[in-house]
Amino acid sequence: AQSDPFDLVVFGGTGDLAHRKLLPSLYHREPVGQLGEGARIIAVSRRPLSDDEYRDWARKAICEHVADIDQDALERFLARIQYVSVDVAQNTGWETLEQTLAGREGVVRAFYLSVSPDFFGPICSSLGEHNLVTEKSRVTIEKPIGKNGKSAHTVNETIGSVFKEHQIFRIDHYLGKETVQNLMALRFANVLFEPLWNAAHIDHVQITVAETLGVEGRAGYYDTAGALRDMVQNHLLQLLCLVAMEPPESMAPDSVRDEKLKVLKALHPMSAEMVERNTVRGQYRAGASAGGAVKGYLDELGHPDSHTETFVAAKVDIQSWRWANVPFYLRTGKRLAARVSEITIQFKDLPHSIFLPGAGRIAANKLVIRLQPDEGVKMQVMIKDPGSSSMRLREVPLDMTFAEAFNVRQPDAYERLIMDMIRGNQTLFMRRDEVEAAWKWIDPILEHWSHLKEAPKPYTSGTWGPSASIALIERDGRTWHDES
Ligand code: NAD
Repeated sequence: AQSDPFDLVVFGGTGDLAHRKLLPSLYHREPVGQLGEGARIIAVSRRPLSDDEYRDWARKAICEHVADIDQDALERFLARIQYVSVDVAQNTGWETLEQTLAGREGVVRAFYLSVSPDFFGPICSSLGEHNLVTEKSRVTIEKPIGKNGKSAHTVNETIGSVFKEHQIFRIDHYLGKETVQNLMALRFANVLFEPLWNAAHIDHVQITVAETLGVEGRAGYYDTAGALRDMVQNHLLQLLCLVAMEPPESMAPDSVRDEKLKVLKALHPMSAEMVERNTVRGQYRAGASAGGAVKGYLDELGHPDSHTETFVAAKVDIQSWRWANVPFYLRTGKRLAARVSEITIQFKDLPHSIFLPGAGRIAANKLVIRLQPDEGVKMQVMIKDPGSSSMRLREVPLDMTFAEAFNVRQPDAYERLIMDMIRGNQTLFMRRDEVEAAWKWIDPILEHWSHLKEAPKPYTSGTWGPSASIALIERDGRTWHDES
């Protein structure tokens, strides 16, 4: 459906995220007619630029990142864009923004803060001081939200002093992915899965988010974060919540978020001893990736004694009846052997086999939900080997990916999330208490790691991380799902 008129004010309009994701995603909503008359985009950044100069920059960004461009739609889209220069650090330029927004108090006014988190507070305060926050305002903030529970609380307080919780959209783009939506459909639009979705039938769950890239010139920022903060606190825990939560009453934002919050609160807090036993930190060394030789993390960073982890594996317990003794194994890292994000639900072995040993090994059922590179859902099932005269069994994937069958373009997560935000739907955005509950579980791990003398375990670039992460799962008689 076509949107109501809106003003989307993008702070950081000349940044990397705007270039790669925000502008291309917004453009995609134009040819399908979703951007209504009176939908405007106001890019804000420090540099002085004219509207036309910025539109040229936006045109290049879109042409670089979008495959099939409809020229008419592109012109219509660019005509919606205006540019305003505001220097947040110097606190200048706000009057121009005021003038640009004047007279539009009745339409949705969405602020997107695609800037350094240090600016979240100052921008919100200035928006308040200049009376730019209206009843119909919303604000979207990017990760990271804080570096620990305490700083996340401060960020939330600052933003909360200007915007009400129903106006605040904390983005986790993993939640906008098509397959993540499909996980909800699979669990709650079928009668097949939910009765089995518990400790009686599921052996364990794996969540892997593997990147082949390194820190790509962002070593300075990354060294202050590390994989636990950068990936686990938000993306992996959000995925874990969607797998583990009880059926919400409806898709209403607070129904879903209440259930996710319960999962976060049920995560078994890690003692020092558990951190040593159930977590593995790694850091990449030189090696080969994507066919070329690559440097190690410490060389990229330029100082030899950083203990920042570029890899984490963890065995996580959820303290509930549904998940008693069902470990969730999480792992994420940079410079790994392949770029793959997936969730594997490993069902239990058959209680009893009626087949002769010669029928072959009966593999336990497995549901694999792949978020990237090619999004899709596959269920591994056993069938009779077709055509064989004796009863021989074979494992085959039941492919539940329909994008190819319907030949549809998979929308980028940002497309859905930005439009949801404009419509005011918070279901796929994190609520304040979720973010703070996630940090409450993460903080003790960071704390215990900080007391450890030894460095993170080294791993060669282009491998699956330190061998200790393989040992972490193999000592339980299990293996990481083969990603190939
Ligand atoms: P960036 O450094 O490329 O862009 C920052 C933007 O802020 C630029 O437009 C710059 O002009 C503007 N800016 C800097 N100083 C300013 C000032 N004093 N006044 C006004 N504007 C100023 O950053 P980015 O990579 O686009 O990231 C933006 C946000 O998104 C950050 O919070 C980041 O953590 C988050 N994020 C980025 C990515 C990504 O892939 N780039 C992914 C996830 C989250």
